[in-house]
Amino acid sequence: MKIAEKHVVTLNYTLKDNDGEIIDQAQDGSFAYLHGAQNIIPGLENALTGKAVGDQLQVKVSPEEGYGQRDENRVEDVPREMFPADQEIEPGMVFHAQGPNGEMITVTVVEVGDDTIKIDSNHALAGVELNFDVEIMGIREAEDVEIEHGHVHGPGGHHH
Ligand code: ZN
Repeated sequence: MKIAEKHVVTLNYTLKDNDGEIIDQAQDGSFAYLHGAQNIIPGLENALTGKAVGDQLQVKVSPEEGYGQRDENRVEDVPREMFPADQEIEPGMVFHAQGPNGEMITVTVVEVGDDTIKIDSNHALAGVELNFDVEIMGIREAEDVEIEHGHVHGPGGHHH
């Protein structure tokens, strides 16, 4: 069986930056996703199409096919009262917020002023070249309900 749309793929992967620092890796050595459903970044998904169980590959993904380029417009000052009043805010803290299109975004505190807080809502990996070491552990046809939901159920996937 080869990786194609509507297949559930189980991978082991390690993600490194260009300095060889590990950014991310598969939890417990296995990560499952639904191929063709934009569960993973396009650069990695495209590289996996047509691969088979046991294949090992190294994939270099540019920011354009990864998490995008950094956008300095996404670094902005917001009023202090947008944050919980009873919480001490410090640079480096990460919050989850709702983006302009209703999507969940991650916001990192850059600087704390008296009345305003400078935040950066770029993805932490925006502008970063991504180097994946991937091994294909399993491939199976997705169940109808998984295709309907657009994600994998069971081990390595969603539980609900
Ligand atoms: Zn589901």
